[in-house]
Amino acid sequence: MHNQLLKVAKFGGSSLSDAERFKGAIEIIQAQEERKFVVVSAPGKRFPEDEKVTDLLYTCYDRVQNGNNDGFEKAFEKIRLRFSLLRDALCPAFPLEEELSNIYESFKRRMGRDFAASRGEYLCGKLMAACLDFPFLDPADCVFFRDDGSFDSERTNDAAHTKLSALGKAVVPGFYGSMPNDTIRTFSRGGSDITGSIVARAVNADLYENWTDVDGFLMADPKIVPNPKVMESVTYHELRELSYMGATVLHEDSVLPVRVAGIPILIKNTANPTAPGTMILPRREEGVVSTITGIAGRKGFSALTVEKDMMNAELGFCRKVLEVIEEHGVNFEHMPTGIDGMSVVAPTAQLSGKRMKILGGICRRAHPECIYIQDHIALIAVVGSGISNCVSAVSSIFDAVSRAGISILLTNRCMAENNIILGVDEERFEDAIRAIYAVFAQ
Ligand code: ASP
Repeated sequence: MHNQLLKVAKFGGSSLSDAERFKGAIEIIQAQEERKFVVVSAPGKRFPEDEKVTDLLYTCYDRVQNGNNDGFEKAFEKIRLRFSLLRDALCPAFPLEEELSNIYESFKRRMGRDFAASRGEYLCGKLMAACLDFPFLDPADCVFFRDDGSFDSERTNDAAHTKLSALGKAVVPGFYGSMPNDTIRTFSRGGSDITGSIVARAVNADLYENWTDVDGFLMADPKIVPNPKVMESVTYHELRELSYMGATVLHEDSVLPVRVAGIPILIKNTANPTAPGTMILPRREEGVVSTITGIAGRKGFSALTVEKDMMNAELGFCRKVLEVIEEHGVNFEHMPTGIDGMSVVAPTAQLSGKRMKILGGICRRAHPECIYIQDHIALIAVVGSGISNCVSAVSSIFDAVSRAGISILLTNRCMAENNIILGVDEERFEDAIRAIYAVFAQ
């Protein structure tokens, strides 16, 4: 479709919350011609106690439904004011009153909760398109859900590709699409990221820029490590491992369309556009050795340990233990094994009310010599593509934890993974993360 570099720029609600920030987003788009496709969220909070436009829209909907007319009018006025402030500062010619009166009528006609919520992105997209003098593409015409509510990725990709290629440049509101019966449906909260990714795939972009309010992903939780470094790059795979272990990064659904197409994502800060950001890559280039990318972890695990002499020689022993666990609906996370024993690590909450039944079931089926459950375990994942080949990374992790006087209760590493999982006492969780971080972030 193109020879010139092509970028999709998605702006989150915090980047569009007031006229000043909205202007910053416009400047960013206009600074590079290759930013031809723009995806917007609805305006977010301007200050901590403020309300997001999407939340105001849900409130309007609920109040209409409950027959609370005064309440509806008040919430709608707040939306009117938010957009009027933007219009006055950014594009006085924008026909806001007309758009608002259509939306007002649609509330009265009870067009549905998702339709109501989608109007923040719709209006923000219309305004952005007017400011940039870009065509506007309504995702109701190219982002499709199936009857069962699931996202129809291939139909969407075909339609979005055709429409966006014909336009050459466009603003597309995030967060919503349409159902086969033409009603509006939204993704889950934060779903504009998904639309950005859909658009990037559809136009075969070279880069999907996700403009937000942070400099990038942090190597560790800032509530545990003071001022952690921003990751320069992270692979899709590493990202999944980190988010699984509790790091707040991008929603997996928002990564999938670009991941399928092998398009990198660059996380950037609208308020600090010169900061390099974090690049999310399909894979690391051959020969590039990174040590660790990030550290994440969670508390609240229990290890059920079963000991039996010569367990390793008994065919089907692990299966019998796991069968009992499965029958009680427990989804285990890890299973480190030894010669005469195995531990099954699961979230403590999942064992609630089932402990005695599980222990009894395993005793009857597998006849262990000893069985016990240890609670208050925290799991820490040290993630990085280089870990699998880097002997020193592994030894540095163990060394850092033991020098901090912390016992490692269990470890787990699969040959295919780019991470090492450590289990420590919950009380030493934060200390262990700080100790590991200190070694790698020098
Ligand atoms: N506006 C929607 C929300 O607040 C979607 C988004 O911002 O991505 O969840």
